[in-house]
Amino acid sequence: MKNALTQAINTTNLPDRQGCFGEFGGSYIPGDLQNVMNDITRAYEAIVQDPAFLTELSDLQKHYVGRPSPVYHAKRLSEAVGGAQIYLKREDLNHTGAHKINHCIGEALLAKKMGKKKVIAETGAGQHGVALATAAALLGLECDIYMGAVDIRKEAPNVSRMKILGANVVSVERGTKTLKDAVDAAFEAYLQDPVQQIYCIGSVVGPHPFPMMVRDFQSVVGIEAKQQIQEMTGSLPKAIVACVGGGSNAMGIFSAFLDDKQVRLYGVEPAGKGLDTKEHAATITKGKVGILHGFKSFLLQDEKGEALPVYSIASGLDYPGVGPQHSYLKTIGRVNYETATDREAVEAFYGLSRMEGIIPALESSHAVAYAIKLAQTMGRDETILVNLSGRGDKDIDFVMEHYPLVDYEPKAEENGFEEFLAHIKQK
Ligand SMILES: *Cc1c(COP(=O)(O)O)cnc(C)c1O
Repeated sequence: MKNALTQAINTTNLPDRQGCFGEFGGSYIPGDLQNVMNDITRAYEAIVQDPAFLTELSDLQKHYVGRPSPVYHAKRLSEAVGGAQIYLKREDLNHTGAHKINHCIGEALLAKKMGKKKVIAETGAGQHGVALATAAALLGLECDIYMGAVDIRKEAPNVSRMKILGANVVSVERGTKTLKDAVDAAFEAYLQDPVQQIYCIGSVVGPHPFPMMVRDFQSVVGIEAKQQIQEMTGSLPKAIVACVGGGSNAMGIFSAFLDDKQVRLYGVEPAGKGLDTKEHAATITKGKVGILHGFKSFLLQDEKGEALPVYSIASGLDYPGVGPQHSYLKTIGRVNYETATDREAVEAFYGLSRMEGIIPALESSHAVAYAIKLAQTMGRDETILVNLSGRGDKDIDFVMEHYPLVDYEPKAEENGFEEFLAHIKQK
């Protein structure tokens, strides 16, 4: 591994001073909020130069999160698929079970260095809320999580986790009482006291500097993976695959490989019940350029520019926007954006569980599903690296209730798992 400081974080020359990635990103917010964002930007830029901060971050990554997370060669799955060798970057093994802890610890550490008392954030299904509540408990910060009343009812276990960790879960009763309303409520609360509090966003989205900051805190994933895969295979992978909701786990792994033009990068969006239905969240694939939550990017929107309702089987992927750097990487042609349906994701969920003993998050299952397809078009001596963003414990009851295995394993009793894989491969 490189020295501890470069291992903890990787900063690049994009975005520009205005927070723009080409035409995307920037900061479309009221003046008072802009002043607050400018303060955060200044503090962040100073802190990433500070060896004490970088050492503390790197220590927490190692001793608390459990980094570096391993890279694992999924041999049985690769063999069954019959194409490229599939490797997994195991972010599912992090403390709290996903990649989100990487940026939450960074953001909470920044809060502490800036002298803030409280971190606040929105949450949809509760994953970001739990990761931030964890980081707040670790660092002795207060934590307010804004969550739609509808989501609070749906996501009881995560609400309990946040409460046990000491966070204050604020029920948002306006509008549709879901994620978008929670974002609005959290930003309003933030503006009431930007001195004592700081907003900690859940992905590479929002106004500058959040897309940059969250990417930088996630970049440790790519830095580690680049070294690990070369140690294991002797070369860079031919392709990297990651699921894209807001886009933080994808930016985390992509960022280390952007200059390696021979490495093909694939972001996988949720096609839900199909791209020709209204029930998907394939923002780059189907959206148009617009503004949401203070930044410009591709957006699933109606004629008036209002964000459309979106859907995915994986609640971590159902966001109508996408991080601005992804929109930029799409327009310059550096990253390919593909999709996987709910059904393909569930098949990959069972496939990885049965072939490797790894139950992936439904979000990550989208990346695995696309990798299974891609592998079949490649040679056996080629390598695909998948960012396995999280573990599937949170999804097991849902999958067993709504997508029982019998639907996915047509002739399991007679022919065993080979038949199931043959079925997957026909698609
Ligand atoms: C939240 C989440 C995602 C989606 O977020 P990104 O910012 O797109 O990475 C993906 N996987 C898991 C496991 C998640 O919890």
